[in-house]
Amino acid sequence: MSLAAEINYCPRCGNAISHQTRFGKVRPICPQCGWIYFPDPKVAAAVLVEQNGRVLLVRRVNQPQRGKWTLPAGFVDAGEDPARAAERECLEETGLNVRVTSVMDVIAGLEHPRGANFLIVYRAEILGGQLAARDDVDAAEFFPLDNLPPLAFEATQHVLETFKRSNVQTFKPATAMNIRPAAESDAVAIADLCNQLGYLSTPEDIARRLYQIGQFEHNALFVAEMDGRVAGWIHVIAFSLPEMDLHAEIGGLVVDEAQRSLGLGRLLVARAEAWAREHECSEIRVRCNVIRTRAHNFYECIGYENIKSQHTFRKQL
Ligand SMILES: [Zn+2]
Repeated sequence: MSLAAEINYCPRCGNAISHQTRFGKVRPICPQCGWIYFPDPKVAAAVLVEQNGRVLLVRRVNQPQRGKWTLPAGFVDAGEDPARAAERECLEETGLNVRVTSVMDVIAGLEHPRGANFLIVYRAEILGGQLAARDDVDAAEFFPLDNLPPLAFEATQHVLETFKRSNVQTFKPATAMNIRPAAESDAVAIADLCNQLGYLSTPEDIARRLYQIGQFEHNALFVAEMDGRVAGWIHVIAFSLPEMDLHAEIGGLVVDEAQRSLGLGRLLVARAEAWAREHECSEIRVRCNVIRTRAHNFYECIGYENIKSQHTFRKQL
């Protein structure tokens, strides 16, 4: 390792380093305190985002491979979940909010001295945002797989080749899921979903509430479409309280009974979380009725922690 040759002083006690064989290799060691230098691998995370048969690529501003195209990617910070690092890098470079859906590949091998030893490649889907090149790239575009621009790095080429092959062999029209802000024209569908949950509402009730929701800045209502039909909604509110920093709360979440367990709920929650982050909330909460054990399991599965049980009091005004 070139880095091992650059270590001259012990970071623990400051003594001069000597090079001796330890654990089968010549390694920098400190004769004073016994510290041994074990180089840690650098890890990068990338996303493969596909939309209508096109993949999202970015053009590099920096050397090496300046001017060539690659997947949105970057280094994982120590202590950072690599999936979050991949989402963060994608947002930083392309302006698109994405959510990691699966691991696609892990590629080992250093391609240049300042590169990563491992690249974790995730599949990810778009939650929102505006496509715009930023950070260390000067262009971000979607390309059809059969007409890709000049690619940087063997890892990028490998990932796209693999993706192309799997796409040809297993291509089937995927169920199209889409998350977008609710519109007035969604009133009938939203009313139907509320009724499934037992909150009896007419489309007129919903239209009136959509108007009220639109009057407040610090909340948002998103709907999930499944093949063009509204199949779920989520409401998220940002709160500023004297005893607590700005935080968000999920006011309501409904997924169509016929469309459960397909990932719509997760997608809606991820959209609400992205909205909360955009609005500088440090935390997101949700209150569940104690009898809704299925909902409790759902939230626990996606990283929520049960912090308290409450009583709810009411007074008619
Ligand atoms: Zn030392």
